[in-house]
Amino acid sequence: MSKKIKQTKIVATIGPASENVETLEKMVRAGMNVCRLNFSHGTYENHAMLIDHIREVEKRTGEPIAIVQDLQGPKLRLGVLPKEGVVLKEGEEVVFSHTPETAAEIPIGFDRLSEYVKSGERILLDDGKLEVVVIRVERARIIARVVVGGVLTSHKGLNIPDTDLKTLDVLTEKDKNDLKFGVEQGIEWVALSFVMDPQDILDVKFHIKEIEQSLGISGESPIRIIAKIERYEAVKKIEKIIEVSDGIMIARGDLGVEMPAESVPLTQKKIIDLARAHAKPVIVATQMLDSMQHSPRPTRAEVSDVSNAVIDHTDAVMLSNETATGEFPVETIHTMAKIIISAEASEYNNIENEIGTTSKKKTIERTMSGLSKLVAEEVGATVILSASFSGETGRLIAENRPELPIAVATNSHRVLRQLNLSWGVRPFMLEECKTIEELIERSIVKLKDAKLVESGDKIIVVAGEPVGQAGHVNLLEVREVI
Ligand code: PEP
Repeated sequence: MSKKIKQTKIVATIGPASENVETLEKMVRAGMNVCRLNFSHGTYENHAMLIDHIREVEKRTGEPIAIVQDLQGPKLRLGVLPKEGVVLKEGEEVVFSHTPETAAEIPIGFDRLSEYVKSGERILLDDGKLEVVVIRVERARIIARVVVGGVLTSHKGLNIPDTDLKTLDVLTEKDKNDLKFGVEQGIEWVALSFVMDPQDILDVKFHIKEIEQSLGISGESPIRIIAKIERYEAVKKIEKIIEVSDGIMIARGDLGVEMPAESVPLTQKKIIDLARAHAKPVIVATQMLDSMQHSPRPTRAEVSDVSNAVIDHTDAVMLSNETATGEFPVETIHTMAKIIISAEASEYNNIENEIGTTSKKKTIERTMSGLSKLVAEEVGATVILSASFSGETGRLIAENRPELPIAVATNSHRVLRQLNLSWGVRPFMLEECKTIEELIERSIVKLKDAKLVESGDKIIVVAGEPVGQAGHVNLLEVREVI
């Protein structure tokens, strides 16, 4: 039996357009695997309601849905401007200040910006649509010349790609409060915005431990951290950042402002390759089906973008405003799923079996996991079966993108959901097994129930004893389902 299922995962941002249980359920049935809650918006009350709704939909559908808490980080924004906006004309001088003294000065939300920017550096406004260059800084006032003009309105984003921000805290006070809320709510993933250095990720991990200690939470498998790559500084240190992170998001919105937009598609390929070589799930984000906010059909270029991200071998593709505030959240997921399935079936989606050769550390576990794809293809297996307490074996099998479901048994609800971000992984709950034989027997019952296998199918088992423990995988076996 050969089943064509969607292997690349879909992450969707949840907001007013998708917050009710009925819509969320339709989105899950259409192919959504992970929900992203954007903490740049919304109250705790609202986020708590969204989390309740997502957990309810998980019960209704039986699909493990991971929640990603996306922290705002040190996003720079303008303050409040007149309703009609402010027109910046090319060549004119403008003044930015956190505490404007006259109506002509443009308010900025961050009080210490003048400590960071220097003359000659660019300030990009509203997703890079407008550009000014700093002429001089007079105490808290930044005087700049307009290079690319346009109309500015309240709260638009501001990027300073030339500025050294090394001493800026990536985890803000707001993020720390949000994180406490997220830990209390039991979210699975945290995405950290504007990461600049591996230490930023380690700081968040430390901070989560402190929160868990203060709340008396222990023993659960850890919340995992996604580094959002949206600064050029992070691209320069990408390998070190991947090493300490549990997942990566290519946040193309800000990244395309912080570095030349034409470099982003190539950077995307490089980051996906590196993340895959480290068996860390990677998400391609932003503007994937942007026009579907207001149209039931995407543009040809958007379809092409999603298809190419699949062929780049990303673990997941992400939707932002399309599902948070757009008019067609369910249709958008349907469309994305269709594009994914078509791209995955294509001859261009082939991947050489590298048996872990892209990775630096060649462990037995990694070799066995890599070989499972080769053996599965040779014998025409239906499913690769494994067990994992931490999820690591599942991620290692996914690294080589085998074209069949990777069924991973786990005994932790958090790991179950976390694994649903990884390419091709179909996680399922199974009480701890003492022996590999027990794992196989009990798993086959579950896989038959889920209609993933039937009698006569071959499955590939990747395991070791004690079952599910990282570092103990040393067996690769072909089994026939009876
Ligand atoms: C992005 O910039 O692409 C992104 C995902 O970040 P934000 O959270 O600002 O949308």
